[in-house]
Amino acid sequence: MVHRDRLHPTDGALGDNVATEPLNDFSRLCVHTITTKPWSIEEAARAYSAAGVAGITVWRQWLADRDVGVVGRMLRDHGLKVVSLCRGGFFPAIDAAGRQSAIDDNRRAIDEAAQLGAPLIVLVCGAVPGMPLDEARRQIADGIAAVSEQAAAAGVRLGIEPLHPMYADNRSAVNTIEQANDMCDQLDCPHVGVVVDVYHLWWDPRLRDEIGRAGRANRLFAHHVCDWRTPTEDLLNDRGLMGEGCIPLRAIRGWVEDAGFRGFIEVEIFSNRYWAADQREFLEKIKSAYLAHV
Ligand code: ZN
Repeated sequence: MVHRDRLHPTDGALGDNVATEPLNDFSRLCVHTITTKPWSIEEAARAYSAAGVAGITVWRQWLADRDVGVVGRMLRDHGLKVVSLCRGGFFPAIDAAGRQSAIDDNRRAIDEAAQLGAPLIVLVCGAVPGMPLDEARRQIADGIAAVSEQAAAAGVRLGIEPLHPMYADNRSAVNTIEQANDMCDQLDCPHVGVVVDVYHLWWDPRLRDEIGRAGRANRLFAHHVCDWRTPTEDLLNDRGLMGEGCIPLRAIRGWVEDAGFRGFIEVEIFSNRYWAADQREFLEKIKSAYLAHV
């Protein structure tokens, strides 16, 4: 084991962290289609496969008006493992019709995941501006409960992704991994678990403990990486490439792995800067950053 360099800028106050070895191949590297947004699903499949990327997470926009089963076969023919489908959720609504429409959409997402061969749907749980957050969380739990049986029958797991509190107004009332763990305890369904996305959770003093709690409950379903830029110029579309920001990526991966997670490490970067760049060069930068910083 290599002793961690205490002077590394991302170590900060994490001096008690165990050493985590760098990754040395791409067998656990997954890229989200949104990361290379200019590419069609076919272009992404060809490029990821040629670059040695092992997994792909598909955003639902890439499946619009497509035969989802055919897309799933195409991805597997390129040697790619379909890691998850993004995204379900957005359960809270101001009236019953809105809540039912969200449940219907999540049922369609479960069907799509099954046809695609995706074992997991990432849930961006939703929020409504002006609705009390505890009411939104009640509606989220009710929404997940309404679809969990169908998900279990389809062999599709549901991963609650807590979002950074800056999105608590309209994207998610679940803002900490502790809230996600509490909701999983309440729902008590083995097909419902937690997604650890470093962008949303890196700042939380309870992160390490709650990752451990999720691991002990066998509900640590996915790990998303990128970086937090200073200053962040756009609340949604200015995520950094790993190493460009202040997130202690390797420490968090260590916590996730200590908790038993051995799945894919998913690169999910919304970035106006990188979407405007050459996507092949960007993919090579992702590979280098993955080895150097994750
Ligand atoms: Zn994510």
